[in-house]
Amino acid sequence: MKNVCKSPEPEELQKYKTRFSLQVKRWSDVKSNRITFNAIRDTLASDQKGLCAYCEMSLHENNRSVEHFIPRNQSTKENNHDLDWQNMLGICLPPGGMKDDDLQNLQLLKDSPCCGKKKDGDIPDSKLLNPLNLPTLRLFKFSSEDGEIKPDEIACLKAGIPVENVLFTIDKLGLNVPRLKDQRLVVIDFINKELDDEMIDINVLEEKVAAEYFGDGTDNWLRFFTTYRWVLGAGAEKHLSNISYSG
Ligand SMILES: [Zn+2]
Repeated sequence: MKNVCKSPEPEELQKYKTRFSLQVKRWSDVKSNRITFNAIRDTLASDQKGLCAYCEMSLHENNRSVEHFIPRNQSTKENNHDLDWQNMLGICLPPGGMKDDDLQNLQLLKDSPCCGKKKDGDIPDSKLLNPLNLPTLRLFKFSSEDGEIKPDEIACLKAGIPVENVLFTIDKLGLNVPRLKDQRLVVIDFINKELDDEMIDINVLEEKVAAEYFGDGTDNWLRFFTTYRWVLGAGAEKHLSNISYSG
C-alpha cells in the first residue's frame, strides 16, 4: 500500500449530485448511470496510476472495482458515504490481487480473499491505514525469502505511525495471502537479477534501474510499486526525489 493523491471530484459526479440533490442517491443508482460511473472509475485509476489502492496489483478493464473506505451500509441521509468522492478508492476485483491468468482459475477465485473482499464491509477500525492519509515515505518492507510484506519500523517511527496499525492493516486487507507473496517474490528476484552487475557501483545501478522502472512518474506505475521501491533502496529514493514523487 502506498499513498494516493486524489484529484478533485469528477465533474460528472458533481453534476449528478446537483441533479439529484433532493433525493438520497445510493451507489447502485450511480452505477446505473454509466457516464458518472465511468468517470469515477477512470479518475480513480488515473489518480492511483493504475494500481489497486490496497495490494498494488494493476487495475485494468477486467480487474477493477470501486471501494468505499467507510462502507456504504453506514450511509445516512446526512452523511451519504455512497457518493462521497473522498471515500472512494480504486481496488482490484474480489477475491483480489489476481493476475489475468488467475482470474480464469476457479479454485484460486475461491481462495483466501484480500483487499475489499477481505475487508468485507467492516467499519474501518482507527488502526486501518487509509491510502489517502499516508506519507510519501515507504512504510513497508518485504522478505526476500517469500515476498511477505512487513512494517518498516524505522519509517513508521519517522512518520509517527504505530507499527501495530501497519500490522493491523496488513492483516485486515489480507496483504500476505499466498498469491500476493508469490507474485511479489517474482518481482524481488527479477530486480535482484538486474542489480547483479559488479562492474557498476550499486548506488549508481539502483538509481539507473529505478529510473527505468519508475520513469518520470507520468505513466502508470508497475504493479507492486512499493516492492520495487524497497528493493531499489537509496537509488529509488533518489530517483523518486528527482521526479518530485508525491503519490
Ligand atoms: Zn488489491
